[in-house]
Order: sequence, then structure tokens, then C-alpha cells
Amino acid sequence: MEISYWNKDVETASRQDIETIQLSRLREIVASALSTDHYKRLLPKVGIASASDIKTLDDLRKIPFTMKDDLRQNYPTGLLSVDFKDVVRMHSSSGTTGIPTVIYLSREDMESWTDLVARSIVATGGSRDDVFQNMMSYGLFTGGLGLHYGAERVGMMVIPIGGGNTGKQIQMMNDFQTTALHITPSYLLHIHSKLAQSGVTLEDLNLQRAFIGAEPHSEETRQKLEELFGIKCFNSYGLSEMNGPGVAFECEYRDGMHIWEDGFIPEIIDPETGDVLPDGELGELVLTNLTRKAMPILRYRTRDLAHLYDGVCRCGRQHRRLSRIKGRTDDMMIINGVNVFPSQIEEVIMRIPEVGTNYQIYLTKKGAIDQLTVKVEIYSKIFSGEASQLDQIKKRIAEELRASIFIHPQVQLHEPGYLPVFEGKAVRVVDQRDQM
Ligand code: AMP
Ligand code: ZN
Repeated sequence: MEISYWNKDVETASRQDIETIQLSRLREIVASALSTDHYKRLLPKVGIASASDIKTLDDLRKIPFTMKDDLRQNYPTGLLSVDFKDVVRMHSSSGTTGIPTVIYLSREDMESWTDLVARSIVATGGSRDDVFQNMMSYGLFTGGLGLHYGAERVGMMVIPIGGGNTGKQIQMMNDFQTTALHITPSYLLHIHSKLAQSGVTLEDLNLQRAFIGAEPHSEETRQKLEELFGIKCFNSYGLSEMNGPGVAFECEYRDGMHIWEDGFIPEIIDPETGDVLPDGELGELVLTNLTRKAMPILRYRTRDLAHLYDGVCRCGRQHRRLSRIKGRTDDMMIINGVNVFPSQIEEVIMRIPEVGTNYQIYLTKKGAIDQLTVKVEIYSKIFSGEASQLDQIKKRIAEELRASIFIHPQVQLHEPGYLPVFEGKAVRVVDQRDQM
């Protein structure tokens, strides 16, 4: 396979060279951090009063973690390190509690973010030959604009359609012979279910690749999408606190996401103790953004659970790879004392060929006992077929789930279109136990 690079020197740099870049950038970012109200208070307490107190990369570990709550408490400008007039962009996410967090980027920060996104796109084999339909929402969410700028920089023809309006999405894919998409996996599944009704066939389209991310999804979902569309799907990971997309992206080998380590220092920690874990062990991902000067964030606890690969990738890049996100520490369901991640349920149901393109997990209570109900859409041909076949599918899903998560679920089969559709991040779990 011929490998394309955006910035070959940095992408194929040796581990030693990557670490040299990291150390010099860590010093610079610590210097910026020391001009924010928040870190000015914190860093001197751990012996870091100036950038020169960072002697080696290990000194990073002296720095306390930054939590989502720190961002909220510092809203709106406690983490700003430049003059307000040097900010050229802000993004914000409201999260679940409604108290917003905000991030700021200077012109220089926009430059490095855009470059990392361009690098990510090229690592998938994307190029100026592509017609790129960006189905992530534009606005305060970073997914839309983040990929947009990187794709333009690569020279792709960008269709900035944003999320939703499935009929129009399909029409545009057909009219402009779109080759590349950026989309959540759940919405891409939905688009497939709408293709049949649209009169447009897969043969009419020219799709080749999709960048899928913004929400947890299983390998089984990726495989299903690749089979349904006959395309390659590349996992894309990012979060607004670290700019947005362009933190980690799969290369053409699609085996783990390269974290661009000249831009970020990743650590995996035990979420209970905060201890840093060796590569290969599952834990919470902690990220330090090395380039965003307008708003430095050091050792940010992402709450995403994953591990770092320890081997080197066949593409020649030495930037370490991040595994698929298993779930979030706050996503874990405790069902009658058993810990279950939604992704474990998704893995099982997406393996079953009769299962269609949507599902949802419901948690309720019967007396003191938790009940798990998995609602699954089944392809219409099968749904309107023999009742006995439906019974068999139901049984099979229930048994495979029980074998995998050790909980016996109720399984409901539905026809396509029954369950709610999400154009951005899907809500897969509805927990009604508090209301019972
Ligand atoms: P936001 O800050 O709104 O962009 O949300 C970021 C969060 O979305 C991350 O912390 C992850 O929990 C989730 N996320 C983003 N990309 C992925 C991905 N490729 N796989 C799993 N989860 C993801
Ligand atoms: Zn690679």
C-alpha cells in the first residue's frame, strides 16, 4: 500500500524526536498556562513557577489533573491566556448539567488545529480529489467546523451541509458524487435505512470513505457500515476541550487511532487512583494539549476509557495508537450490581445479520430489581415475515447478550423507523429507574 503523508517528517519522526518536540512544546504551553488565573494558582504549589521548572517529560506528572468542573468554575475566561482580541474562535459545549464550558483559539491555534485535521484526512487516503460532505453539525459543536477547515486545507471540495435533512443529504451525495463523509455512525446507519425509499441506489453514488466519530461505537458497527455501503470507515476521535476532531484518527490500516503526539501528550490512568498505567492497559484517557496557546489545558481527564497500543503501525507513523473508546466512566450502567457498557450490548446486536440500523437500551425497575430491555429494529423484509423466525431472532439476541454481559435482557423487535433518530450524537440509553 502506498502511504500518503501530510507532513512526513513529523508523522514518521522517531519516538526520540517526538519526545524532543513534546518537551519543548510542554515548556511553551506551561509558560502560557502560568498566565491564566487557574494555573497561576495551581502550578507554583507543585513546584512549577516557570517553564524552566519542566526539566523532563516526567515533570508533567507533577501537574494536577484538570477536570470538566475546573472548566466550568473558570467560565468564561479563567483559563484564557491571551488578550481577548487575539481570540479568533470560540466553541462551547453545554454537557449534561447545562453549565457551559468554552474553549478559545487564537489565529495560531486555528492554524495548528487545521493542520492536524488535514494530516488526519490525508492519513486515511483522502486528498484534493475528494468531494467531502460534512454531515456533522456546524456551530458551537466542534465537529462541523473542525473537519471543514482541515478538508479545505487538503483541497477537498467541501459540501458544508451539516447534520440532518436526510433526503437532501442523499440528493447531494448523488448530485455531487460525494466520495467522503464526516458523520456519526448512528446517523450513517440511519441514512442507509432511508436510501431504499429515496429512489437513489448505492450504485448511483460514488462513496468511498467515511470519517465516523463523536460517539462510542463498536467494531461490529463499523463492519456493518462498511458492508452496507461498500466503503471504508475511519474512526475519528476528538473532544472540544482538546479543540475537537483531529486528536486521534485511524490511518489506512484502520487498526487503532494515531494520537498526534506532537500536538498532545496522552496518558492512561486508573480512574480510581489516578495512577498512570502502562501502554496496553485499559483506563481513562488524560490529554495535554501542547499547542493551544489561547487556552492551555494540562492533563485533562476525558472520562473516556481506552488503552494505548504499544506496537508500531505498518504505516510507518510512530505516533502511538489509541484503541476504540470502550465507553465513558460516566456511561457505565450498573444493572443489579453488574457493570455493563452500552458498547458491550452494541457489539452483540450488530453481529446479528437480521438486525437493522437502530437500537436503544432501556433501564427500568420491577420492585427492587433492575430490568434491561433492548429494543432493536429488524430489516422490514424479515419483520413482516414468519412470526416463528422473529421469535428465534429474539431468543438468539437474548441468549448472546446473556452470554456476554451476564444479564438476561428483555428483547423487543421493531420495524424500521420505530425508534427515535438522532442526527448528531445518538442517545442509546434511556434510564428510567429513578422515576419508578
Ligand atoms: P464533544 O466535546 O461534544 O465533541 O464530545 C467529545 C466526546 O465525544 C469524547 O470525550 C468522547 O466521549 C466522544 N467521542 C468523540 N469521538 C469519539 C469516537 N471516535 N469514539 C467514541 N467516542 C467519541
Ligand atoms: Zn498507521
